[in-house]
Amino acid sequence: MPSTPCEEPRLQLRRQGYQFVSPKASAAVKPCLWCKRALCGGEMCYKHRFYGIDSHRCIQMTPTLRCTQRCLFCWRSFEHEPPAEEELPPEFIVDRLPDLQKRALSGYKPSYRVPPGKFDEALQPRHVAISLAGEPTCYPHLPRLVELLHERGYTTFLVSNGTRPWVLGETRPFQTYVSLCAPDRETYGRLCRPITDSWERVVESLGILGKRRSAIRITLVRGENDRSPERYAGLIQDSGARFVEVKGYMYLGYSRKRLKKENMPDHGEIQAFASALAGGSDYIIRDESPASRVVLLERMG
Ligand code: SF4
Repeated sequence: MPSTPCEEPRLQLRRQGYQFVSPKASAAVKPCLWCKRALCGGEMCYKHRFYGIDSHRCIQMTPTLRCTQRCLFCWRSFEHEPPAEEELPPEFIVDRLPDLQKRALSGYKPSYRVPPGKFDEALQPRHVAISLAGEPTCYPHLPRLVELLHERGYTTFLVSNGTRPWVLGETRPFQTYVSLCAPDRETYGRLCRPITDSWERVVESLGILGKRRSAIRITLVRGENDRSPERYAGLIQDSGARFVEVKGYMYLGYSRKRLKKENMPDHGEIQAFASALAGGSDYIIRDESPASRVVLLERMG
């Protein structure tokens, strides 16, 4: 008999590499594949290429697995969402991060595979990507959590689905991301499946981006949201965000139960879509990473 409502899903997530901050909450750390690849002296993710973030020194985490959407393309399982959890103090989460990252990388030791210098660096992470799974603005102490991370010397990227603009407005990460995965309310409802209709809130969140270092992330799903680039262009133009990342949907994790492999666009389609966005706005294509299937646009002027 599980001792807490979310024990069984947690066990499954632990097997997938999640390190939980506390048995009573869903705040967690999980290094991404790029972190491990970089640790072994391999390639780094597009965030290194675009923004100079070292993948092996990046902690991927979330303060909660709760979410306000049920996106078809999400690689997490919605069954893993905790029905209730304890809200941990932000100090507690931040204190635990280095140890959890160390534990998550415990299968790696300096060797012919892992250059010792890289290993030492990985044990001293410099960046926190609040983007693992779940919607971080559901965590009530997010503004303070981000402040504390900066006080400890980390840079931060925060990825939000934009459904809680009042929290986003109070939170000041180094770079704020808002996901824009639909050109209109109808597509948004079908693809992102918000618990309550949040289209206006997402648009409101986009409006926050012009006042800070920010990016809009578009996850392009072939046959689902890869049309009406002129409408996307209008929304990003109005937002004033500095960057736009157009990323291809990846057929991974639990999304395979909801979508098909054919929903993955190839890099040429992503480039064409990004070009159409640039054609209808003040953004230009700045860079791309075919390995990560992402194209970066930047606002001119
Ligand atoms: S907003 Fe993010 S975490 Fe929530 S369902 Fe969508 S992709 Fe998954």
